[in-house]
Amino acid sequence: MEKGEELYSGKAKSVYKTADPDKLVLFFRNDTSAFDGEKIEQLDRKGEVNNKFNAFIMQKLAQAGIPTHFEEISSSQESVVKKLEMLPIECVVRNIAAGSICKRLGIEEGIDINPPTFEFFLKDDARHDPMINEFHIRSFGWANDEQIKEMQRLTFKVNDVLKKLFLDAGMLLVDYKLEFGDFKGQLLLGDEFTPDGCRLWDAETRKKLDKDRFRQGLGGVVEAYEEVAHRLGVKLD
Ligand code: ADP
Repeated sequence: MEKGEELYSGKAKSVYKTADPDKLVLFFRNDTSAFDGEKIEQLDRKGEVNNKFNAFIMQKLAQAGIPTHFEEISSSQESVVKKLEMLPIECVVRNIAAGSICKRLGIEEGIDINPPTFEFFLKDDARHDPMINEFHIRSFGWANDEQIKEMQRLTFKVNDVLKKLFLDAGMLLVDYKLEFGDFKGQLLLGDEFTPDGCRLWDAETRKKLDKDRFRQGLGGVVEAYEEVAHRLGVKLD
């Protein structure tokens, strides 16, 4: 599907209209940013790896009964998706403590979180994506009750599917962020699932295989993403 006018450009992807008003093209760029855009670099091959990785995961989730916006890959760095009315909310599930929860609550990195936690964040870069709760979401109209319940249900269902998928390939799914949107009255999983928006550790050595390699200046960022893809059997050529 041909892409038309650019609708908007986020920190890692650009979004284009298509001839079909219900569909968009997501272009996965090579830019990588952290700390609300303070640290930005171009990482060769990242767009392509993430596009193919995302397609693989979205298809696995659809097979498991999770409704997603994904339609098809249309070029090495592009995929066609259904056009959603995105909810300005990020849903985060954590299986192992890492990142902001360690700073916020003084939890030691690496401990198992049992049962896994669920957090909502407001998508608002200028305010550093503050943590919010269901009452904020309802009071300020960011989503309705039904959407809140469905986001929680689907985000936990994703955990069941992906924890096993990664563990079978020798990796721990530490945590991840999902975004949802409305498509003609149905809540669908939108945006992306890539190592830019989750934490993955080698199950034996606990080596970091995700965006923390970039945030923490550990190097080998795209190489780690390629390793994750390779372990899952994602075709990158
Ligand atoms: P950010 O804007 O958070 O930096 P990206 O660079 O990934 O993130 O930009 C992608 C933008 O496209 C995000 O705002 C995301 O919510 C939006 N988006 C993702 N999937 C869809 C979709 N199916 N329909 C409409 N918008 C989408």
